[in-house]
Amino acid sequence: MELNARQYKILDIVKNNQPITGEEIAQKLNLTRATLRPDLSILTMSGLLEARPRVGYFYVDKGFTNITGDYLKKLKVGEVKSLPIVITEGQSIYEAIVTLFLEDVGTIYVVKDGFLSGVVSRKDLLKTTMGKANLETTPVDVVMTRLSHIIFVEEDSSVYEAIKKIINYQVDSLPVVKKVIVDGKEYLEVVGRFTKTNIAKLFLELAEGK
Ligand code: ADP
Repeated sequence: MELNARQYKILDIVKNNQPITGEEIAQKLNLTRATLRPDLSILTMSGLLEARPRVGYFYVDKGFTNITGDYLKKLKVGEVKSLPIVITEGQSIYEAIVTLFLEDVGTIYVVKDGFLSGVVSRKDLLKTTMGKANLETTPVDVVMTRLSHIIFVEEDSSVYEAIKKIINYQVDSLPVVKKVIVDGKEYLEVVGRFTKTNIAKLFLELAEGK
């Protein structure tokens, strides 16, 4: 059986607050009781929830315990991504540092002709202070991680897949890209960023049953 995102949320809410009335579930989701009725019937009919009259809903643990895993596999990066912060290849390391502070981010994406060409992180920039480079004249391309090494996701990648990449490759953020073909060649347009903060926010929301 395929559940939708709202049904997973309802299961989570019931699990953490049982017994809970339909009205209370609706309040937590900022929806009306009527809107939730079909979801609650599906969950009750499939045996995942038990409804006791005048008491409320209970969660029925049927070995169906990996709710978070199922939810993260279903949720798309496009639904939780943040706005990307980009600079253009050729801009200076100094400008990159200023952007990092102004935009309050840890990683900046570098674009060339509008398409992704590099990633520059806090540590990449910090490293430049150890050499003798002139920060105002040295282009950011010198210190960025180049395209062929960039780990990225697309908007319809699952959040689960994105979290695995962040952990496996030990990076703080992934550019969210859209593949574009120009003259038979593939380019990556930057449409967002997915960061450790996105993950933390998501878990806070799950914990609070939002
Ligand atoms: P920090 O500099 O704060 O440690 P990261 O751990 O994200 O931040 O970056 C570590 C290194 O990995 C840096 O050299 C950075 O350029 C590179 N990097 C960051 N994000 C990515 C990514 N999505 N794909 C490939 N390399 C990345």
